[in-house]
Amino acid sequence: MRRDQLVKTLALCLLPAMLTACAPSEGSNLSDGSSEATAENISYTDTAEPQESVTSSAEGTTLANSEEAENTSDSATDAPQDSTAASKTEPPEIEITTTKSNIPEWTETPASGELYVNTDNIYSRIKAVQGSEKVKRYSLNDKVTVVAKTDTDYYKLDDGTFIHCDYLSESEVVVSTETQNEENSGGDYTALTPNGYVIERIDGITYVDGIMIANKTYTLPKDYDPGIKPEAAEALDELQHAAAAEGLSFFIVSGYRSYATQESVYAGWVARDGVEQADTYSSRPGHSDHQTGYTFDLNSLDDSFADTKEGIWLAEHCADFGFIIRYPKGKEMYTGYVYEPWHIRFVGKEKARLITDSGLSLEEYYGITSVYE
Ligand SMILES: [Zn+2]
Repeated sequence: MRRDQLVKTLALCLLPAMLTACAPSEGSNLSDGSSEATAENISYTDTAEPQESVTSSAEGTTLANSEEAENTSDSATDAPQDSTAASKTEPPEIEITTTKSNIPEWTETPASGELYVNTDNIYSRIKAVQGSEKVKRYSLNDKVTVVAKTDTDYYKLDDGTFIHCDYLSESEVVVSTETQNEENSGGDYTALTPNGYVIERIDGITYVDGIMIANKTYTLPKDYDPGIKPEAAEALDELQHAAAAEGLSFFIVSGYRSYATQESVYAGWVARDGVEQADTYSSRPGHSDHQTGYTFDLNSLDDSFADTKEGIWLAEHCADFGFIIRYPKGKEMYTGYVYEPWHIRFVGKEKARLITDSGLSLEEYYGITSVYE
């Protein structure tokens, strides 16, 4: 009976139609800790034109989640400011209800069951109203026990605190580490990285923001054998011509490598240096960026390449042609590999520019890992 009730309330909350009803508070949540002015604006807007905000918020729910996650994360380091913001947002609410001060801020309907947090860095709150004091921080897929649902679209937890219904789901979100072994992997999925980018697996291949990913965490299928991708070859051609006009010369040392080729390449390095050492510079089969078909090693596989005219030019200009330096200097802990100034990866001009200008490795930019289990 209680289980039924929960399923009922869950269904209501998760249904697109009900997201509509969740939407005004959801929109208000965006303002938590970030702008008290927005919080007030939104609460007025809610009463003034509910239908309009409903449509847009329902569609933007996913993004709103990640923004909320980031905002709470930011303000977590700045507790005093946050509590100030919270107390500042409350007076208007009190003023509005001064004439009927005995009316509760929300009502609770009993519910029971276990739900999962569906985003990172969400906080339970002391009241079932947006902007109220934060109590406890939760991470993706933390399990919580629910004891009630409120008419303000919050779930009450067994510790008496509240989490908005948008941030709790019936099942766990599939996380990236489960893609470790493509042969044992589950089916296709779509999720969000902690940085809010779409990560999806289609036919055993993982894409983040549309970019095919092969690293220590994400594998490519054994039979994925595309050869060099035409768009990457074209971009390299363009790069080579532009460089030639400046008297510089680029040639391919290593381009596409199949699973089988990588198997023998890696085995060779392991035989020479051992697994631990080989793993810092060579990929295990199925994990190689070269198997994507978007990758080239140019000119020289030696650190000294970085200081040659070509190496300097490549670092400065490869983004203009849609490439990134895939394993930048000092980013080993994120990429899983040592600096490789000669290894460029095609991601398209727009994304290459964004990633390069960010100063981050691809893994940091998108919030993904690169580690062997
Ligand atoms: Zn390489």
